[in-house]
Amino acid sequence: MRNTASEVSKIYQSIDAQISEFQKVTGLGCREGCGNCCRSPEVQATVLELLPLAQAIYESGRVDEVLDKLDTLESHICVFFDSQSEWRGRCTIYDTRPLLCRQFGFAAQRRKGNELVLSTCSVIKTLFPDVAARAEAVIAEHGTIENGALPPIWGDAMMSLYVLSPDLARERHPINRAIRLAVEKWGLVEMLGGSAL
Ligand code: SF4
Repeated sequence: MRNTASEVSKIYQSIDAQISEFQKVTGLGCREGCGNCCRSPEVQATVLELLPLAQAIYESGRVDEVLDKLDTLESHICVFFDSQSEWRGRCTIYDTRPLLCRQFGFAAQRRKGNELVLSTCSVIKTLFPDVAARAEAVIAEHGTIENGALPPIWGDAMMSLYVLSPDLARERHPINRAIRLAVEKWGLVEMLGGSAL
C-alpha cells in the first residue's frame, strides 16, 4: 500500500510540474485565496487518489481527529476546506489533495478528432478572460501532447492512476466519503501488515 501511495504521489508531482510549466507559458492562475471550487458539494475523488492523504493522516497521528470531524460535519463541503485561511486556496492538505483538486482549472479535454481544448473554471474565465484566451490559443497551437507546454489531459491523468490499482480507482465518491474510505482502508491494510492491496 505504501508503494501504491508513493506511485500516486509521483504522478501528482509530474502533473504539478506540467501545470506549473503551462502556467508559466500562459499566465493562467487562480484568483488569490479563491477556494471557490472547494465550496462545491460536487467535489469527488476515488480512494486511490487519497492514499497519500490517508498515509499522512496516519503518520501524523490525526486519525481520530479526522474521523471525528467527518462524523460531525454539517455540510457537504470538504472537511479540509478552511474558509478563514488565505493560504493555498484555503486547502489545509494542499500537498496531498486529490487529482480533481490539482487539475481543476488547469487541464485540457479531448474532443472528437483528438482536438484538445482548455478546461478551466468559471471564475478564471470571468476574471481573466484574456489569460484564458491565451491558454486556449497555446493549446490550439500545440495540438498534441508531444509538443509540450500543455496542461494534463483529464482522461489520461485518471488512467495513469487507474492502472496502479483498478479496484481503488473504479468508483468516485463525494469528497468526504472518499476521505473516510481512504483512511479506513489505510488502517485496515496496515493492520494486516501493509500488503493487502
Ligand atoms: S482537498 Fe483541498 S482542494 Fe480539494 S476540495 Fe478539499 S479543501 Fe478543496
